[in-house]
Amino acid sequence: TIVLGVLALQGAFIEHIHALNTLREVEHISDVVEVRTKAELDKVDALIIPGGESTAIALIAERCGIIDDLREFVRTKPTWGTCAGLILLAKTAIHTKKGGQQLLDAMPVTVSRNQFGRQVDSFTIKLASKHIDGEPFNYVFIRAPAIVSVDDPEVEPLVELPPGIGQTEESENGLLVAVKYRNMLGTSFHPELTNDNRWHQYFVRMALSLI
Ligand code: GLN
Repeated sequence: TIVLGVLALQGAFIEHIHALNTLREVEHISDVVEVRTKAELDKVDALIIPGGESTAIALIAERCGIIDDLREFVRTKPTWGTCAGLILLAKTAIHTKKGGQQLLDAMPVTVSRNQFGRQVDSFTIKLASKHIDGEPFNYVFIRAPAIVSVDDPEVEPLVELPPGIGQTEESENGLLVAVKYRNMLGTSFHPELTNDNRWHQYFVRMALSLI
């Protein structure tokens, strides 16, 4: 069985906890916990870094003295970054805050921070994916980032938007919004804001296969 943690410094962590709890009956989950300290991080087998504000999460992590422990964790243990969490996981982020922002520097992708525009440009789209069984999943994008380049052949693209959506000159093909790299999953949407837990199940199964 697995202990799942959700980084609970800022952002949509409660929603992830609820989504993971809905899977307790069907997957081998022994606990779902909020992570704010190194001691809590040491107790979990896998971690979700939620959406929110990547600059705020990084700043709080720095001030709490947990940022280097997070850097170490995400390199080897199953980790899923959603939205701001994806930005944090990336090795490179563009269109970031003036003066830059701290990243966990782990996933070899380039992420464009607010690729789809401002909060008012948030949108949803239903897409089928070979990684998610059943009906098309309703993808929720809130001031979302996108993966504009994959910087290592080991990065596996999972979901690409139809060409044209959110595209700028930095991206040649349809934008990537879900990728997998070794022990890491990165998605630019918010599956925790839907009642559909299929992406959470995908991550739990991925994590179970790695521990
Ligand atoms: N664009 C935001 C950031 O830079 C992320 C938005 C989100 O997580 N919904 O952190």
